Parts: sequence; structure tokens; C-alpha cells
Amino acid sequence: MSTPTLAHWSAGAELPGTSDRYSDVTNPATGEVTAKLSLASSSDVETVVAAATAAFPGWRDTSLARRTQIMFRFRELLNERAPELAALITAEHGKVLSDAAGEVARGQEVVEFACGMPHLLKGSHTENASTKVDVSSIRQPLGPVAIISPFNFPAMVPMWFFPIAIATGNTVVLKPSEKVPSSALWMARLWKEAGLPDGVFNVVNGDKVAVDGLLTHPDIKSVSFVGSTPIARYVYETGTAHGKRVQALGGAKNHMVVLPDADLDLAADQAVNAGYGSAGERCMAISAVLAVGEIGDDLVDRIAKRTVSLRTGDGTRGADMGPLVTAAARDRVSGYVDAGEAAGATLVVDGRQISPDASGEGFFVGPTLFDHVGTDMSIYTDEIFGPVLSVIRVDTYDEAIALINANPYGNGTAIFTNDGGAARRFQNEVEVGMIGVNVPVPVPMAYYSFGGWKNSLFGDTHAHGTEGVHFFTRGKVVTTRWLDPSHGGINLGFPQNV
Ligand code: NAD
Repeated sequence: MSTPTLAHWSAGAELPGTSDRYSDVTNPATGEVTAKLSLASSSDVETVVAAATAAFPGWRDTSLARRTQIMFRFRELLNERAPELAALITAEHGKVLSDAAGEVARGQEVVEFACGMPHLLKGSHTENASTKVDVSSIRQPLGPVAIISPFNFPAMVPMWFFPIAIATGNTVVLKPSEKVPSSALWMARLWKEAGLPDGVFNVVNGDKVAVDGLLTHPDIKSVSFVGSTPIARYVYETGTAHGKRVQALGGAKNHMVVLPDADLDLAADQAVNAGYGSAGERCMAISAVLAVGEIGDDLVDRIAKRTVSLRTGDGTRGADMGPLVTAAARDRVSGYVDAGEAAGATLVVDGRQISPDASGEGFFVGPTLFDHVGTDMSIYTDEIFGPVLSVIRVDTYDEAIALINANPYGNGTAIFTNDGGAARRFQNEVEVGMIGVNVPVPVPMAYYSFGGWKNSLFGDTHAHGTEGVHFFTRGKVVTTRWLDPSHGGINLGFPQNV
């Protein structure tokens, strides 16, 4: 069977690529190449941005009522077909089917939030702010906007942005990760079926050439990026230097603090769920467990028992955990395990030697647990983005919070305790954007906003919720006087209100 070639989606139709550069799309569970992806040339980017630019005036002036009907239709179609999208995610990312379905559901929550856009876009009006003068505020769309997404959430991360961008009247160019291109193309077809006018939602597939094309294009008004910290910083600096509004969400190193009074079974369950879910390829994964006080041996014992019981394999076969996304990712993660062992951490469960339930040459590393990890070891200092959980022993709460606050990342964190006062102090003191109290992966609901602090986010605005609405719109204030005019005559002084 010949391998299909995937390219772009522009003005409501597939757009073949014009470049001679391709990358392989693989099924990580089997190692098979399932498609060739045409990596956009600069001229492909031009074509797709031109489609978004041409569609903007019509979409901007489409009534809110009509836009909202299309949002609802998209929501209904997504609801009906969610398993199809989940299967595509598993086939290209590797995460198990139930996890892929969870990702679609969390993305869909943002679609549902965006269905309420008429309410969220209501401006304000002040009557008689000055004598016979009224003032009102309105928010308007920006224009064509770019979304650049990572491999680890092929559907959910684009859905953090595009429902809100579209519902507020913008047109979209989505640049998905070249490792997982099919979900974006699938969602483009769904939009067409939902009745979205051609050119409002477009997809350009590619690598740095496509990203640079979008970051520097004069018609692109904003960039919403999610990916690793070095690229997020680059995107923020380049996009803002080209006059764009940018929100660039970066990498993470998430700590879970377990206080001595915590329910240790709950903490162990959640450390395993949050450490190994999606093979650790989540920006909200827990990778460092800070065991406070004397509980260390007991906690590690409970985590280890659960870790060895996990089934690793092909995500379509009922495994708990799937493969890493590529062979390179697998080798990088195994390299970190080698490094942790060499640095003297105690390797409690070694995921390098596993027999996954899969056929072919998938990219597997099993769940791996380290104890007695030092804070100078690379398994602690670096974002591994794999199923490697490190336990660090600390003596006190103060030591735990100092470690978290000294970390360059600040995406998510969690505390496990039964002491409300300790939890309250933690949420007050910790320098992290998203905090869980006895909740290990505290991903905010769609009507709150998602985003970290420090090197986990460049820009001022978090994703979705009212911050998302704010990001994709800009404000105007209108001051109005309707006659009967009481002419005050000529006065060159600064207008004062009377
Ligand atoms: P990545 O930075 O390699 O890629 C992200 C996007 O940038 C992709 O679309 C990719 O094509 C593009 N890109 C890659 N190299 C580029 C370059 N040199 N110049 C311009 N563009 C480039 O990230 P990834 O490996 O796809 O995703 C994993 C990373 O994303 C992790 O660091 C993870 O923590 C982070 N992430 C963060 C969040 C968050 O909300 N903060 C959410 C999901 C993932």
C-alpha cells in the first residue's frame, strides 16, 4: 500500500504543497511510517495566509447569531465523531485511546465556552457621562491569527485557541506539529461541514519555515504558540518584534509536594497517574515528587508497587500507557535514565527493559521511578517529557517551596495534604500558574484561563477563558454626543466633563 501524502488546508479545500521537503509521520506504537507530510514552503504560507486574509472582512461582519449557530453545529459534529478524532490522535501520537478521548473532551469544553460568545462580547455603555454625552466600549476581532501547536495534544491545544478566535470574528491559520498533522486536517473538514465559510479556518503544515513565515507575515495579527521553552521564547521575541500580539506557552517541570499528613495511597495513585499518563508527554505531568519528612520510604514503596503494575503497549489494545512519540524521543528519555543512574540516583523501577504489548518496532520506554534524586542531576533540572518520575527527599515544607520557587519553570504544581492551612499557605506562596490541592493535574476549566509563570509562558495573556477572549479582540471606546447641540463655542483646552 502506498503511503499517503498530507499537505495543507486553505480556503475550504486541500492544498497540495509546493516544496520538495517532506517529513515522515509515524505510528509510534508500531514504528510504521503512515504518511509523508509536505513541509510548507514560504509560498505555501503566503497562499494560506492570503486565504485567511480574504475571508476576514466577511467573517468579521457576519452576525454573532450566525457565528454562534456555526459554533454549535461544530460542537454537535465533534460530539458525534469524537471517537474518530481520538483514533487519529492515538495513531500519530501514541497515547492510549481513553486518554485521546479525554483530550478531545477537554478541547470540546472550549468549543462550548465559545458558544457563549455573544454574552462574552457584550460591551459597556455609560449614559450621560458628561452632559448629553454617552460612552460605550466594544471589542473587535484582530484579523487573521496564527496558532502554532505542539505534538503532545494534537486536538486539545489547537482547541484552546481556535474556537475563541473564530467565535470572536477572526480568521485562523493553524500550524500543527509536523509529528501529528492529521487531527488539524480532520478538524478543518469538520468546520466545513459545520458551515464555516471557506478561508476562516486554514491549516499550514510544516516546520521552522512555516513558523517563520507566520511570525513575520504582515497580515498575521497575533500568534498563539505552545511548545518547548526555547522555541516559545524565540516565537515571542520574533513575533513581537514584527508587531504582533503573542502568547507563547513553554515547557514545564511540575512538582508534587507530599506532606507527612497526606493520604499516602491517594498521593501514590495520583503521582502514578500524573507521572505516567500519556507517557509523561504532558506539560502538566508531574515529574518531581517532593516527599516531606519521614514518609519517603513508605511513599516510594507505594508508588513503586503501582508503577510495576502498569501495562505498557499499543494504545489501541487496552494498555495503560503508550509509546513515546518518536524514536528520537525514546532515545532521549532512555538517555536521561542512563544519566540518572550514573549520577547516583536510586533506580527503583527501570523502564528501559520492558516488553510492550505491541507489534513492530514501537518507541517504548516503560514507567521509570527514581528515588533519592539530587537537585543537581539532569533528571531533576531538565524537562524530560517522558515517563520518568523522580522522588526528592526534603526535610521541611519550607525546603519544598524553596525548590519549586527556584525552578525556572512555573507551569503546574500540586500539594497533597489534609491540612487546610498548609494548602492555603502553599497556594499563596508558590510561584506557579496552576495549582492543585490533592489534585495532581490541575488543568483549568475552559471558562478559567490556562497558563504558567516564569519560563512556562512568554506574554501576558493565558489561554482560553476571558483572557482568551481578551487576547483575540481589541478594545475601542466611543464617546458620543447627539444633538440637540449646546454649542460651547471654540475651546482649545483639553476636553473636560461637565
Ligand atoms: P516544540 O517546541 O518542538 O514544537 C512546538 C511547535 O514549534 C511545533 O509546531 C514545531 O513545528 C515548531 N518548531 C519546532 N522547532 C522550531 C524551530 N526551530 N523554529 C520554529 N518553530 C519550531 O515542542 P513539542 O516537542 O512539539 O512539544 C513539547 C513541548 O511543548 C514540551 O516542552 C511541553 O512542555 C510543551 N508544552 C507546553 C504546554 C503549555 O501549556 N505550557 C502545553 C503542551 C506542551
